[in-house]
Amino acid sequence: MPNSAAALDLLLLPTWLVPVEPAGVVLKEHALGIRDGRIVFIGPRAAALKLNATEVRELPDMLLCPGLINAHGHAAMTLFRGLADDLPLMTWLENHIWPAEAKWVDEAFVRDGTDLAIAEQIKGGITCFSDLYFFPKVASERVHNSGIRAQIAIPILDFPIPGASTADEAIRQGVELFGDLKHHERIKVTFGPHAPYTVGDETLEKIRVIAEELDASIHMHVHETAYEVQQSVEQRGERPLARLGRLGLLGPRFQAVHMTQISDEDLVLLVESNTNVIHCPESNLKLASGFCPVERLWQAGVNVAVGTDGAASNNDLDLLGETRTAALLAKAVAGSATALDAHRALRMATLNGARALGIEADVGSLEVGKAADIVAFDLSGLAQQPVYDPVSQLIYATGRDCVKHLWVAGKQLLDDRRLTRLDEKQLCATAKAWGQRISGHTES
Ligand SMILES: [Zn+2]
Repeated sequence: MPNSAAALDLLLLPTWLVPVEPAGVVLKEHALGIRDGRIVFIGPRAAALKLNATEVRELPDMLLCPGLINAHGHAAMTLFRGLADDLPLMTWLENHIWPAEAKWVDEAFVRDGTDLAIAEQIKGGITCFSDLYFFPKVASERVHNSGIRAQIAIPILDFPIPGASTADEAIRQGVELFGDLKHHERIKVTFGPHAPYTVGDETLEKIRVIAEELDASIHMHVHETAYEVQQSVEQRGERPLARLGRLGLLGPRFQAVHMTQISDEDLVLLVESNTNVIHCPESNLKLASGFCPVERLWQAGVNVAVGTDGAASNNDLDLLGETRTAALLAKAVAGSATALDAHRALRMATLNGARALGIEADVGSLEVGKAADIVAFDLSGLAQQPVYDPVSQLIYATGRDCVKHLWVAGKQLLDDRRLTRLDEKQLCATAKAWGQRISGHTES
């Protein structure tokens, strides 16, 4: 706690303060103080009001909690939102998404699609997102300009992709971007081998060596469908997760996205290696990919985070909605109403996400010393009354339209639902123009 003479840049006085760590706590009559982008004070309101602050904001009927962390997505795919729906994964990918990407994805597409995704996410209470898409350098520039925080994963596949004609070229670009952004306050670069069925052993081994050397994370789709596992068993005689374990990729720096198929042996591998799992329930539901057994993983001690996946398969970047779906689905899959309760669901969408991305020392909870990545939800509306438990209300009864204010590293990016750095009208017009071009219609 700073002494009372020390100035705060901003003092926030919400009705409820939910720090996430310690777990299950809701503080009333408490305040949070920010200086130089960091949380420097959390304490009783009466003590806070004696502190000297440049700006004081009363936040009546508002719940203040750590900003949401969207641990998996493909940001620029917002421009393909709704392009091909209601199809199985491989048909969707091979007949629709991959051809559309080959035709349309360039640096301008990634610039405009990423901006759209960033704006949607800020308005939805997300302060940090993970991105795995083409032209990652362009995406990182958009993150830098917008003020949001992100993990930029370098896409690596064993065939040509927009921006890199070989896996080696993609890796080289990744190493360069990693070096360029090593000291960036809000951007973390990781390596993103797409999936076990698109990346061979030789490339995976190269990625393992480089990630170890740089102490970088690896972000990968793993066990998205039963078909993926079955194909691997038929062709290679082993399950994809076992193969990644054999190649030495699993560990606390590894982020396994989806994991809808988990055998007893898989669970042992995840637990023993301390591998992170990123759960994308709505994408899995929409593509009928299967169900990640979140409660079973949680009880076994696996860190489970949550992600929206790309807007082409979800179709929104609404992490609050995703978290509600995760909480409901976890109960159905576990056959238990006590599975993934509201407080743990919020933890999954904040601190667990930070841990999966390797940034939990800096963000994910409201604690003195951490960066001020904060969201204020307005619980004053009709649909939120009465409020017995504000966290239950947030998870089960609140939509992202209730996101009122948002700060990243102490900078306000959303003020009374308005974006402070991005032009919403312009973003909509640009996205609409892309839609018209992609669907074959041009404005006369
Ligand atoms: Zn994905």
